[in-house]
Amino acid sequence: PQDLAGLNLLITAGPTHEDIDPVRYLTNRSTGKMGYALAAAAAERGARVVLVSGPTALPAPVGVEMVTVRSALEMREAVASRFDGTDVIIKAAAVSDFRPRSAHPHKLKKTAAPAALELTANPDILLEAGRRKGESPCPLLVGFAAESQGHDAEGSRKLTAKNLDLIVVNDILGSATGFAADTNQVTILDRDGGRTELPLLSKEDTAHRVLDAVRRRLP
Ligand code: C5P
Repeated sequence: PQDLAGLNLLITAGPTHEDIDPVRYLTNRSTGKMGYALAAAAAERGARVVLVSGPTALPAPVGVEMVTVRSALEMREAVASRFDGTDVIIKAAAVSDFRPRSAHPHKLKKTAAPAALELTANPDILLEAGRRKGESPCPLLVGFAAESQGHDAEGSRKLTAKNLDLIVVNDILGSATGFAADTNQVTILDRDGGRTELPLLSKEDTAHRVLDAVRRRLP
């Protein structure tokens, strides 16, 4: 169905790279598959989709506007500058919580290994978006929560803390779920206390079920 026709969706995907020096960086195991599947599914359903992607090895989904970024700070800028005019923001990216306090301008020498890597916190892009709620019109905000324990409790804590409409909680320890897998098993929590537990599905089918939940919350 073309049930998302006329809507502007902004979807983030993939990891971020946080530079240590010109050749080294901190990152995580995200491949971007879930966010890319969401972008492709939303475009199939008629939405105008902007996909803000950290570095991944995936091809751009058909019919989607790509914005490629590397770091959390770049992703924050790409999201914040598109806030106005967006109907739905889905944050499937695994944003690095920390970055090196300063990226070294030159490659660190093997012989001059620093004793420690000093880190500083990255901004929470979704939390910042949640704080802008109340501005009208505000996009519907959808978060992802990759958890290894206490899934529902952590999911609802983040839903409230970040002022979200929906959060999609998934398990990262199972081999068929989470990072790099082609399948996922998620539970969708909404801000009114609703809970939908989905079975193990392909990331494409999971994406469509998440978009069904998004569609139900739109006017
Ligand atoms: O890292 P955390 O579990 O808090 O992530 C939950 C949600 O917040 C995800 O949708 C993620 O994309 C988003 N997030 C963010 N900026 C961060 C960390 C997380 O937008 N710095």
